[in-house]
Amino acid sequence: MNPTHHQAVLRSVQYTNERTKHFEFKVSNGSRFDFRPGQFISLEFEPDGKKVRRPYSIASAPRLDNGFDLCLNILPEGRASSWLFHLKPGDPICFSGPFGFFTLREPPDPVSAFIATGTGIAPIRAMLQQLYRRPHDSEVWLIFGVRRKADILYREEFEKLARENPNFHFVPTLSRPDPGWAGHTGYVQQHVTRYLAGKKGFHAYICGLRKMVDDVSHVLRSMGHDPKSLSFEKYD
Ligand SMILES: Cc1cc2nc3c(=O)[nH]c(=O)nc-3n(C[C@H](O)[C@H](O)[C@H](O)COP(=O)(O)OP(=O)(O)OC[C@H]3O[C@@H](n4cnc5c(N)ncnc54)[C@H](O)[C@@H]3O)c2cc1C
Repeated sequence: MNPTHHQAVLRSVQYTNERTKHFEFKVSNGSRFDFRPGQFISLEFEPDGKKVRRPYSIASAPRLDNGFDLCLNILPEGRASSWLFHLKPGDPICFSGPFGFFTLREPPDPVSAFIATGTGIAPIRAMLQQLYRRPHDSEVWLIFGVRRKADILYREEFEKLARENPNFHFVPTLSRPDPGWAGHTGYVQQHVTRYLAGKKGFHAYICGLRKMVDDVSHVLRSMGHDPKSLSFEKYD
């Protein structure tokens, strides 16, 4: 798939928590936008007359309606994120893509571990949507680190997947747990050790900020995990 230029229109947008929004776009220039789950687009815009480009992971698997989702964290001083955060339904965007090699392996490995923090969940949501489009019996772990309960993006979707698929294990973990939270706490690294140590031959997909990706890669290596069975995307 060669990257090409596209236009899209924002169809809907909603807050997922106070710092994050979920966007649904539809490609509007008539051509089919093909991509592999896990890839990203390069968004182009001119907030103050100067062209700015930023990469954003596509948060959905390819759909028949030529639409795609993004999941965006606002950084108060951030040029792109504050511009995107103010988009309204009907607003157009320009982008090129798809880009990147952080993609779902086909056929699925017997065991896959997805590890994300914050909006690093975006490409992993796309991969999971693809993975569960058809029945399979591989074992899948999703270890997802956020600060508080309200930050667990797409929580209902992942809980539904876990209810419907006994081999899908959803491990949300809070670094600043709300009072009364009875689930996992602490950083993703701890849960990687707890749930994945001793498992052989799994493929790990890691996405988020550089420090987390490096720390988790280090933990996996110290568990004897083969570095060739590791895919990652760093956001910074
Ligand atoms: C391949 C790729 C995919 C990405 N996908 C997403 C995505 O799906 N959703 C998303 O919200 N962001 C994503 N990012 C980050 C995004 O491209 C921008 O860096 C981010 O939106 C900040 O841009 P800005 O212009 O608002 O901030 P800038 O004005 O560029 O300032 C950004 C500062 O914040 C740091 N930073 C970058 N991203 C984050 C973050 N998520 N949290 C905290 N600090 C950060 C940068 O290192 C920099 O110091 C992705 C980055 C890459 C490389």
